[in-house]
Amino acid sequence: MASRPPCRTPTTTSSRTCNATAPIRWCPRLPGGEVTPDKLLAIAQVAKDFNLYTKITGGQRIDLFGARVEQLPAIWRRLVDAGMESGHAYGKALRTVKSCVGQTWCRFGVQDSTSLAVMLELRYRGLRSPHKLKAGVSGCARECAEARGKDFGIIATETGWNLYLGGNGGFTPRHAELFATDLDTDTLVTFIDRFLMFYIRTADRLQRTAPWLESLEGGMGYLREVIVDDRLGICAELDAAMQRHVGSYRDEWRSVLEDPEKLRRFTSFVNAPGTPDPSITFVTERDQIRPPQPGEAPLIGGPRLKVVS
Ligand code: SF4
Repeated sequence: MASRPPCRTPTTTSSRTCNATAPIRWCPRLPGGEVTPDKLLAIAQVAKDFNLYTKITGGQRIDLFGARVEQLPAIWRRLVDAGMESGHAYGKALRTVKSCVGQTWCRFGVQDSTSLAVMLELRYRGLRSPHKLKAGVSGCARECAEARGKDFGIIATETGWNLYLGGNGGFTPRHAELFATDLDTDTLVTFIDRFLMFYIRTADRLQRTAPWLESLEGGMGYLREVIVDDRLGICAELDAAMQRHVGSYRDEWRSVLEDPEKLRRFTSFVNAPGTPDPSITFVTERDQIRPPQPGEAPLIGGPRLKVVS
């Protein structure tokens, strides 16, 4: 099986362009969408102290916008100290595993969807792929986590988990297709491991799982033969590759904070470290910052900001 080179993308990036001279969008990982009051307070305090635009995402996490590149290490230090890590806001990687509250808090729930989502998100965090990966786990067929709109989605049944593969939103929305029914948790995880690794190794760059699945000759039936029946004799290799990923995961924020060389890159001007970029400006709207539209007078900016009327 021909494998593709690994996809490398930054852990965060600009909200407008991929360079270091624009305000940056990033978010901490909140596995399964869970967040403790203490972590929520830490995020809020950072957002307040650095005057960041804050928004809840569709993937059940908290996006923060508007930091300058030289501010990121200080921000990450505070969040890492509060027990958080990079959420790969813009990476071609696993983004989130969305979940509903499941049987723990919902009378309709038949399984603990939140615990499964947390486990899956921690297992696949940091996994680089041809495109972003999203997942969901619903605690019953009412589907509050919209699992069938995800690259891999799981819906609880009375006796286990139904697994759906190849869904996405975006330009061409597509519901995921049913891959297997009433799986126990170990078998479910094994099938997802193999699905992800097979996709990562055979899809084109920037090809999401839905078009990849459509391009597979034999479609879902063929995928079942590869993943369940080991038709290609590669399942052991796929399993080992996922184990290597799980065993080698390291938080990228922490990696930067512990590496003086990497930290030196977090500057707007290499010849003036710590100097804020005066071209980054904001206006306020609904009590938060946002980038100004052309012709709008910026209200917030660096020390050499020239205010235009
Ligand atoms: S999907 Fe089912 S278990 Fe989950 S919140 Fe909705 S109704 Fe409740």
